[in-house]
This record gives sequence, structure tokens and C-alpha cells, in this order.
Amino acid sequence: MAHVLTLNAGSSSLKFGFFKLGDATEDPEARIVGLMERIGPGERAHIKAKRQDGHVLIDQEYGRNHVADHSAALSRIVEFLREQRPEMRLAAVGHRVVHGGPDFDAPTELTPAVMERLAQFEPLAPLHQPPNLSGVRAALELFPDAGQVACFDTAFHRHHPWVNDTFALPRKFYDQGVRRYGFHGLSYQYIAETLKEIAPHLHMGRTIVAHLGNGASMCGLMGGRSVASTMGFTALDGLPMGTRCGQLDPGVILYMLQNEGMSPAEIEDVLYRQSGLVGLSGLSNDMRTLEAAGTEETRQAIDYFVFRIRRELGGLAAVLGGVSTLIFCGGIGENSAHIREKVCEGMGWLGLEIDEGRNLRGERMISTDFSRVRVLIIPTNEEIVIARAARDLVESKQGTVA
Ligand code: AMP
Repeated sequence: MAHVLTLNAGSSSLKFGFFKLGDATEDPEARIVGLMERIGPGERAHIKAKRQDGHVLIDQEYGRNHVADHSAALSRIVEFLREQRPEMRLAAVGHRVVHGGPDFDAPTELTPAVMERLAQFEPLAPLHQPPNLSGVRAALELFPDAGQVACFDTAFHRHHPWVNDTFALPRKFYDQGVRRYGFHGLSYQYIAETLKEIAPHLHMGRTIVAHLGNGASMCGLMGGRSVASTMGFTALDGLPMGTRCGQLDPGVILYMLQNEGMSPAEIEDVLYRQSGLVGLSGLSNDMRTLEAAGTEETRQAIDYFVFRIRRELGGLAAVLGGVSTLIFCGGIGENSAHIREKVCEGMGWLGLEIDEGRNLRGERMISTDFSRVRVLIIPTNEEIVIARAARDLVESKQGTVA
């Protein structure tokens, strides 16, 4: 019996999934999922992990400095997994890597040459790529014999038409890699594959997916392939998010530099950590908190969030030449009936109408029977996409050996 481990490393966190492999036709089966947070020198790291049925297996804080980096974090996680599953036999590790640059459009085995190339994309995703690669290095050290595969958030969008891959800048920037990459690709891939399974006729059509979580973006798909995404060069563009600004006139950044005398690090902090819902509300990046607060500022923050989603919905529908299916996913998309209702309000002109009761109950299909556009809620699952890629790597190696 073989297993695969999925890893998703953030700047101070490491999310993990432990899967059992069946035969080649079966989906990897999630056994344990967990998260280690507050990794770093001087911090008290915290680990929480659950079985697939929701039973909490560990919820524990470590002493200060016990988990100073990703390598230490992975060692602790593996220690915990071995206690839980002494029979553990890791055949492969799958990593979420935010940036595959212009080159990588599919999961890729992590060889030294690939690692070298991925390190070159660090300036393209300075907050995410370095911790992602730290996670990979830690796993390569700990499991030198397991296959290791990178799954990129950009890969799903790599075949966008040129007009949606570029900015109107001098060409040398495009050649240097300043392109509209798009992100959340693992989530969109999961949604596209699930739609194909549950409603193949819809999968063939024009689909808009709204991934609304702490990070938020939208994607337009034709026949299951990404045609356009609201995110661009970095994960800042498009919709406002929990703490990120979303689409912004670049002149604002010049203003911050020239008039406010802000440093690049200060501007980065504003754009990535102090903007979006938290910036507008002055209260929180958490949608539940904003919905419960009901103040003028929190209402305005929600209004702006919804306004941008509606605007992108119209834009993507125009790019696709219509829309047959709208899908909500992510923490907000899956759980907030209020946001879904506001997004879909008055969209009759687009042939889109949701049923109040179905929406409140959070049913899979929330559109009315008469709505031309089908509106669905599909809980996303990025981990299984990574686990499948790890399984495929194991299969391909077995194929090679045979
Ligand atoms: P994610 O990043 O996908 O985990 O999503 C996190 C976001 O989902 C946060 O803003 C949460 O407040 C939001 N969220 C989770 N559950 C609910 C809920 N029941 N109602 C509204 N927002 C929710």
C-alpha cells in the first residue's frame, strides 16, 4: 500500500495532505489533512490535523523556536504522520508551487534543473515562490527516494490567447516574462474536472468560475479550458481580496512613491496586507466578521467586493461570447448565501436568476428552473489535484520500470 503527501507552503505555514493510493483508476483517498502555522524563528508554531471524517487528531502548540523553518516543520509533520500511520510508505510528494513562469503548463517532476528554473521565477512571486521552494527543498532532503512533483497555480492558464497574456507595455517586458499569468489554477482545474464528471454537457459550454476566498479571482472557461482570468502578473490583480487590493490604476503606485515617499517594501505591505476587505472596512479580512458587523464601512467593503465581481462577470461573459454556467467556490463562494445573492441580483439581462431557497440552503444547483445560466456551488479541492499529479508520477515511474 503506497501513500502520497501533498504540501502547500506559505511564508510561515505548511498545509499538508496524506493520501492513500488505490489502483490506477481510483482517486487518491485523503486520510489526514492538516496545517502547521507560525513557522519561524522566535515563534510558537501550531499544528492542527484532522482525519477525513473531521475527527481532530492533533491540535498542539510547540515551544518557542521549536519549528524555526520549513524543514523543521516538515520533520514534525512527518513525525506526527508516522505516529498515526506506522505503515506509511511515501511513493511521492506533490507540491503546490505558485509560479511556473512562461515555461510550465503541466505538473512537472522536480529535478535539480527544474528547481533552478523555478528559483528564477522568485521575483515574479516574491511572497509565495520562495516559501514554496523551501518546502520542496525540505521534502527533497527528507524523502530523497520519493518522486517529487510540482503543481503550478499558473499552469492551467498558460494557453490564454495572446491578448489576455500581455500588458500594453513595451515588448521587452513581455519577453522578460512580465505577462498575465493568472493564478488559482489548481482550484479551477478541480472545478473544471468536477463539472465534466457531474454535468458533461455544461462542461462543454461557456463557464465562469468565481473563486471567492481570502484570495479571490474569476476565470472564464470554454470547454473546460481557461480563456481568461482576472489575475495578472501577480496575485494582486482583479478582484479585491481579504487583504489585497485587486485591480488598481498603476498611477496610484507612482503617487505612493513620488508623493508619499513610500518605499517599495511599504507599498508592498499596503497592497498585499492592508488593502481589500480589511483596508476598506478598517475591521477585518474575514467575510463572516464583516457580514455580522453591519456598519457603514463594512457594508461599503462588501459592496465594493460585490461590485467588482459583477463587473468581471459581465466582462468575462463578453469575452466568452455568453455564459452557460456560473460556479461559486472558495470559503465565501461556498458559504455566503448573502454574497451569492448580491452578485446575482438583477442579472436577468444575462439570463441568470437564482432561487432564493436553493441559495439559502446552499444546494449544488442554485439557479431557478427557468434560468438560462445554470448557477452551481462546487466546493473546491486543490489538494486532490496535487495528489492526482503525485499519483500520476508514481504510475509513470512504475510504467518506466516495467
Ligand atoms: P478560503 O480562503 O477559501 O478559506 O476562504 C476564507 C474566507 O471565507 C473568509 O473571508 C471567511 O470569512 C469566508 N467564509 C467562510 N465561511 C463563511 C460563511 N459561512 N459566511 C461567509 N463567509 C465565510
